[in-house]
Amino acid sequence: MEKVLVTGGAGYIGSHACKALRAAGFEPVTYDNLVTGWEDAVKFGPFEKGDLLDRARLDEVFAKHKPVAVMHFAALSQVGESMSIPAKYWRNNVMGSLTLIEAAVDAGCMNFVFSSTCATYGDQDNVVLDENSAQMPINAYGASKRAVEDILNNFGESNGLNHVIFRYFNVAGGDPDGEVGEFHQPETHLIPLMLDAIEGKRPALTIFGTDYDTPDGTCIRDYVHVCDLVDAHVLGLKWLQDGKGSRVFNLGTGKGFSVREVVDHSRSVTNKEVPMVDGDRRAGDCTKLVSGSERAENELGWTPARSTLEAMITDAWRWHQNGHYEK
Ligand code: UDP
Repeated sequence: MEKVLVTGGAGYIGSHACKALRAAGFEPVTYDNLVTGWEDAVKFGPFEKGDLLDRARLDEVFAKHKPVAVMHFAALSQVGESMSIPAKYWRNNVMGSLTLIEAAVDAGCMNFVFSSTCATYGDQDNVVLDENSAQMPINAYGASKRAVEDILNNFGESNGLNHVIFRYFNVAGGDPDGEVGEFHQPETHLIPLMLDAIEGKRPALTIFGTDYDTPDGTCIRDYVHVCDLVDAHVLGLKWLQDGKGSRVFNLGTGKGFSVREVVDHSRSVTNKEVPMVDGDRRAGDCTKLVSGSERAENELGWTPARSTLEAMITDAWRWHQNGHYEK
């Protein structure tokens, strides 16, 4: 069975990717430092504990498993934190990725799938965000991801590293079988925080900013189901294995929902009220991030079939009530 090295395989998206890879006939080898990930989430292949910045450990893992490709999910991903502690983002996301990319190239592992983000586009009013849009991040998280895209492009030109870059919009939902799910500590994402508030695990959801230039004053995001997202990664891996070359794809649905609209949908899925309070804007947040591209559908044959708010909130709610990991 061909092996794929999955960095961050113990995290939310990485664990779902491992399940999808296994279903597609690959053996996912998780490489994770467990700082934000959970060993309990590694269920679909071997686990190698290690840090992205540890070149010797990476070399050892490449030599042991001889993966045919890397899927690189391991990263810090909190917009707010990236504004208060940017050094963490530059060290972990940029220096860590550079270390990994060099190790992959030196090991002859030349197919690389990278998790980037729509945060690389920044706050562009009335602009359709497609893969050719300017990248003008307004937070350190987005800047760190754009820097890794640049590194990949340079290694593509100089070393022949083939890469697929996926720019995610907002990832939500969970495995419908409940084997893995979203579990961050601390949690910072809208949907799990809202479900916590519904269950009384938090006093209320704080709406970060109600004076944005949007119809109801709250930020607009394009939500994509994690299972659809990881399916695109398997298609991206096959794209590389078929020799189709390096390519960037947005992963979003093209539909935007405001924070208040997400809250309204949660109310109808759970039949429960969402306790909430209006709060200040969060540093680094863009007003609106909605994908304006169908490249992934047209070129990869991707269909984001589960990416309705109802399905995402239903799957998240089921996991939220029953699933968790322990250190
Ligand atoms: N948000 C919010 N309250 C929260 C968490 C998030 O109002 O407690 C908003 C946030 O400002 C953004 C949207 O929900 O507009 C999605 O935020 P999240 O952190 O889930 O993802 P991000 O867009 O930062 O990747």
